[in-house]
Amino acid sequence: MNDYLIGFRCASCGARYAPDQVTYTCPRDGGNLDAIYDYARMARELDPWQVVHRPDRSIWHYAELLPVCPDAHLPTPLSTLGWSPLYRAPALERALGLRAVWLKDDSRLPSASFKDRASAMVIARAQALGIKTICVASTGNAAAALAALCAGSDLQAVIFVPEHTPEGKLVGMLIHGARVYLVHGSYNDAVALAKEACRVFGWYNRSTGFNPYTREGKKTAGFEIAEQLAQADRQRAVPFRAPDVVIVPVGDGNIISGVYKGFDELRMLGWVDRLPRFIGVTAALSPSLYRAWQRGDETFETIPSRTIAGGIGTDRPCDGVMALRAVRNSGGVLIEASDEEMLDGVRVLAESAGVFVELSCAAAYVGLVKARQMGLIAPDEEVVLQLTGSGFKDLRAALRAAGQPIPIRSLADVHP
Ligand SMILES: *Cc1c(COP(=O)(O)O)cnc(C)c1O
Ligand SMILES: [Zn+2]
Repeated sequence: MNDYLIGFRCASCGARYAPDQVTYTCPRDGGNLDAIYDYARMARELDPWQVVHRPDRSIWHYAELLPVCPDAHLPTPLSTLGWSPLYRAPALERALGLRAVWLKDDSRLPSASFKDRASAMVIARAQALGIKTICVASTGNAAAALAALCAGSDLQAVIFVPEHTPEGKLVGMLIHGARVYLVHGSYNDAVALAKEACRVFGWYNRSTGFNPYTREGKKTAGFEIAEQLAQADRQRAVPFRAPDVVIVPVGDGNIISGVYKGFDELRMLGWVDRLPRFIGVTAALSPSLYRAWQRGDETFETIPSRTIAGGIGTDRPCDGVMALRAVRNSGGVLIEASDEEMLDGVRVLAESAGVFVELSCAAAYVGLVKARQMGLIAPDEEVVLQLTGSGFKDLRAALRAAGQPIPIRSLADVHP
């Protein structure tokens, strides 16, 4: 275990626990837990230039800031995970009148979604605990990530997904040998079943937010963005650098709270001078989190999600408290995206930036356009869109945005 890790703090009551005192949520009130480290000591002992000059380009690059690391150093998908590309989208910059729009492209991770970061951290923790079966409830990507990263090890992935999970995501679990249960019900029903199964069978539960290690995996995207931005500067003056704005699609809220935490930790270490503003984008047809944001409190109603953007569809967000704090503490906002806007966003990102993402991910683009229209982002600002998943996993949804090919018999049917 990393000896900078102090333990966990409850997001609800603030109670603190030693690292091995807790497994999932707060024993007192069920609040989500957040890992805390000895940042003061780390700031004294660790040189950020030394960190960024480490040759290995993976999430494990940031070992001191991670609760666990895997023991093996073979070049496997687990040990090489991370360091997805960060690239500019000049056509979007021109269209939206912005100085810089960067895409952090996690559709390029091994299982083609951001969820690999969280699954990797949970797997490293399971290995440390000596537990051989890892269970997850998922709308698809978290499960596919777990299945892929367990492959070739002695770990078994057991998965609970809702019945309407897209085929591409199901295949991404089954092909790696995971055991997949298709739950008659919603994502949140699958979450409840996975929790009960872990209690009864002694499996380790990876479910998002409930397991505090998922956020620790996800924060690595924040570290990478800051390191890659600094590296891209013509004359690199700093080891890490924060953009003005980071835009993240939001369902359970674990990705936004994770990426936020990455920047917040760099700030606490004095390795960046400020936080970016976090703009979270939820599906209008999955409104539980957005309503809490509007009310200005941290309580969540259970409201059946009806969005076709499965990756951000949740009846009740599993990491909602931390997501709202990421937005509020950074001076950001939450914005809603309709299903039609996301479909359109898939096409725009594909046509103008060359990246084919899933509907949920396109919410980030919708948020960018709306934030710009609302005057929430100034022309001279630098924006990062966190891309979260590949469009190839849900072709049925994407086909609605893509249009149809033109059938021909000969060149006589072709009109240049
Ligand atoms: C899971 C997921 C999200 C949302 O992440 P949360 O932690 O649930 O907020 C966004 N996009 C894609 C593609 C996802 O798989
Ligand atoms: Zn508590």
